[in-house]
Amino acid sequence: MSDCCSTNESCALPQEQAVSTAVSAGSAPGVCPSCGQKGKTVDTQIVKALLAVSLEAVRPSAAYRFCRTESCPVVYYGDEEGQFFTEDQLREPVHQKHPTADDVNVCYCFNHSPGTIRAEFERGITDVVARVTEGTKTGQCACDIRNPQGSCCLGNVGKVVKQIEAEIATAVLV
Ligand SMILES: [Zn+2]
Repeated sequence: MSDCCSTNESCALPQEQAVSTAVSAGSAPGVCPSCGQKGKTVDTQIVKALLAVSLEAVRPSAAYRFCRTESCPVVYYGDEEGQFFTEDQLREPVHQKHPTADDVNVCYCFNHSPGTIRAEFERGITDVVARVTEGTKTGQCACDIRNPQGSCCLGNVGKVVKQIEAEIATAVLV
């Protein structure tokens, strides 16, 4: 098992969501059976770690992917027929499905959410990105078994910080 945060690659900012187009299941390899978007491959370990339902439903041979489409209920899906899991079958709500919800974690190792980050801004300025970065360097994080996307949250945290900064800037101008 590699250190999830040791490479910059997994900490890069998430790519912008592609425009959603409805595609029927199985029409292209690697696409979500619900929204038709191509998801990112994840280790079966994160699927097992996040599922609230019995792991009897998991097929270890299925290559699982993570669907980040906000409006799509499916979180994990495999390349075998009927192998998909929706958010309500998981132990945790998923940041990508509620990117601005105050009470949904964006950092699953140190429990930062848009709400906690906004509260830091209300007290002054936030150094949450630096703190998370520090935590990943010292090996305190476990994104590969805690974050539903199965990789480092840093890119997502940076995005939330920018969003809240922009909200505050707009509020000041009004
Ligand atoms: Zn989907």
